[in-house]
Amino acid sequence: MARTPIRRHLNIEIAPKVSEHVFPHNLQMYSVLPSGEIKLEELQQWCVDRLNVLKLVEKISNQNKIKASKDYVAILIEQLVNNELHNFEKLVCLHNFKSEGETEQYLRRNDCISHLILRSAFSFEHEKRLWFFRQELKLFRWRLSLLDKDNIKAFICTNGLQYDAISEEEKENIIEDVKISYDTEHIDNINVYKVHFTRVINAVKKRKIFLKDGMAYVPETKMPWLIIPEFKKKLNEGFAYSREVVANVYGDERLSKIFSVLSSCISIRNFESNNLRQVSIGELDELSTTSYPLCMRVLHEALKENHHLTNGGRVQYILFLKGIGLSLNDALEFMKNEFTKKIDENTFRKKYRYNVRHLYGQEGKRANYEPFHCIKIQNSSIGVRDKHGCPFKCMSPDVLKNTLHKSGLISSDRESVIQLSRGGYYLEACKKYFEITHNCITHSTFDHPNLYFNYSRNTFESAYSDSED
Ligand code: SF4
Repeated sequence: MARTPIRRHLNIEIAPKVSEHVFPHNLQMYSVLPSGEIKLEELQQWCVDRLNVLKLVEKISNQNKIKASKDYVAILIEQLVNNELHNFEKLVCLHNFKSEGETEQYLRRNDCISHLILRSAFSFEHEKRLWFFRQELKLFRWRLSLLDKDNIKAFICTNGLQYDAISEEEKENIIEDVKISYDTEHIDNINVYKVHFTRVINAVKKRKIFLKDGMAYVPETKMPWLIIPEFKKKLNEGFAYSREVVANVYGDERLSKIFSVLSSCISIRNFESNNLRQVSIGELDELSTTSYPLCMRVLHEALKENHHLTNGGRVQYILFLKGIGLSLNDALEFMKNEFTKKIDENTFRKKYRYNVRHLYGQEGKRANYEPFHCIKIQNSSIGVRDKHGCPFKCMSPDVLKNTLHKSGLISSDRESVIQLSRGGYYLEACKKYFEITHNCITHSTFDHPNLYFNYSRNTFESAYSDSED
């Protein structure tokens, strides 16, 4: 059968053509859809480059903790130069919206196209979607930190965001409170915007903002507090649209090929995003109460209490520990410390040492065993002495209630989790448990304990970082 040749020009006619100033600003919410022609090779190159940029973003943020966005973006620019990602370097360095030349339009259009194509390629798989969301958000936040007052205003205007500045009279009434809240004397000469507190919920949670009668007062020097949530919302909503786009071009060999190549370029193993972190034995007790999903917390507490875990529990817990960054030596030490409270060291060496080393890929066929997925944990067969499995599926309502009580959940919260678990919504119950214990709302459900852990660490880190959001 004759094969359809791949055409070298791809006509992306996604939206009605906007002829003038299609991309009026360097920074985008990626809601203006591009039209026109682009060479297939060029499209692929931009997508591959963007993927490399996002990988750099991940690496930089993992290696340089607790820095301001401006420090991160300085490192990023340096790395873009080192990695010969010159188009993206130019793009990140552009921060004057008034530059309207052909080069700017070219860079902005391809910024948009590469974002949309990658978003589509990653829109079907939860982990990849989450990874893309996180890196794009960081990139956006870092680029936003480079904009001055006028460029931020232009960004707000071009994206149709509306914020009402309070009148001089209203400002007079709150000026002293605002000065104290933001530790600044220069409030007199700048605008202050008033929005419902739910629009700046992160800043509210971090107690950074002046609130009165449910309204938040945001000085114009803090506009990223308003802009970043809008970007997150747009990005989240965009995934549904991207899935539709992929479904509509299903059968177009050229695009399907690009989507599948891009998607396979990034193999996010379930615990990969924690590979750069190391966790020590001394941190485990605290982490078990702050960042473990309930299944692992139950195993940790059972080990501490009984100084023993049955085989299923050991495998489930040790692989999880490996995934969160506990070294083999520490895992051996940790297990030995607990087990030898009941058995002697010799017995531990004979019966359990091999088992731990095997799970770390150092014995037998030296396979790289990965931490278990929720589905596998939920389908574990459980005996009376076992503590492994998913508590939301395997525990009776009474035992679950007791366990949640021990984890510090108040009665109404316990009830909401138990109801979901009774209805068979185990992942939803887990998500609810996360929201309650992290005092947040999340759009993600976790289908992997290590994903839960990573998400929890990122939540705490972003809460304590000095980033603008
Ligand atoms: S849903 Fe998954 S992460 Fe949550 S408790 Fe169950 S197995 Fe653990």
